[in-house]
Amino acid sequence: MDSIQILLLLSIGSLSALLPDVPAVYNLIVNDNVRHCWIGPVPTHSFLFSFFALLYGMLAGLIAYGKFRKAVYLGLFAEAAFLSHLWLDDAHEGNCVYLYPIYNKSISVFSLMAVTFPESDLFNYLVKSFVSVFCIAFIIMISLFALSQLGFEFRYRSEK
Ligand SMILES: [Zn+2]
Repeated sequence: MDSIQILLLLSIGSLSALLPDVPAVYNLIVNDNVRHCWIGPVPTHSFLFSFFALLYGMLAGLIAYGKFRKAVYLGLFAEAAFLSHLWLDDAHEGNCVYLYPIYNKSISVFSLMAVTFPESDLFNYLVKSFVSVFCIAFIIMISLFALSQLGFEFRYRSEK
C-alpha cells in the first residue's frame, strides 16, 4: 500500500513538473516548431496555467483517495511541482510570463538575485533579496506541507 502511495506521488509530481512543456510536443506536431512556453496565445509558464496542475492533482486525489481534503493536498503538491519547473526555467533562460494576463511580459526572478549591494541602494537590495529567497522557500514549504499531510514525516531524531 505504501509503494502505491509513493508511486502516485511520483507520477503526479513528475507529470505536473512536465506540464508547462507539454505544448512543445503539440507545437512540434501541429505547428512544426518547438516553442514550449506558449499554447496558442496563452503562456504555459504562468501562474494562470499552473491552475491546471492544481486541478489535475485534485482530480487524481479525488480518484485515488475519495476524500476532498486529501485531494486538496495532492493538488498543492502538483502545484509545487509545476512551480518548480517555472523556477528552473527561470534560472536557465528567464522566459516566464508569470503574471499573464495581468502583465504580458516575461519576468526573471533569478535575475533579481544577481543584484549586489554597491550597485543599488540598501532598500532595493533588501527587497530583491527577500523576494528571490521567498520564492524558493515558498515552493519548498508548499511541497513539504503537502507531503506532511499525505503521510510523510520530517522530524528530528536524536542520536542515542
Ligand atoms: Zn519549461
